[in-house]
Amino acid sequence: MNCLFCKIAAGEIPSKQVYQDDEVIAFDDINPQAPTHVLIIPRRHIATLNDLTETDDALIAAMTRRAAAIAKERRIDQAGYRTVFNCNGDAGQTVFHIHLHLIGGRRMSWPPG
Ligand code: 5GP
Ligand code: ZN
Repeated sequence: MNCLFCKIAAGEIPSKQVYQDDEVIAFDDINPQAPTHVLIIPRRHIATLNDLTETDDALIAAMTRRAAAIAKERRIDQAGYRTVFNCNGDAGQTVFHIHLHLIGGRRMSWPPG
């Protein structure tokens, strides 16, 4: 499949890996928007949040808990951080393999632009 994040998960495209297990990998975003900007992805290809089914519930929980664990490792858990799934065009999704952004290490504004 011609998917950038499937290729990163397979090791065919290099990335700065932060974490990996059988289900999930995490790596630094190539264009970081904050001192910490990590992407947490499933190894299995899922294009958008709209494609999730009940069988993915544990996977999404694992991704969310991994984001919190990485935030703790980076010592930004107490100051705070943001986790974001962009879905489709209005949200600015550009890679159609779901990914959870973990962003932190600086003060952020709300609402997002
Ligand atoms: P989206 O806009 O789809 O929510 O987020 C896609 C993210 O993937 C962006 O933050 C972008 O910087 C990142 N990205 C795009 N191509 C690559 C790449 O080849 N390597 C890495 N590490 N990140 C990428
Ligand atoms: Zn993919």
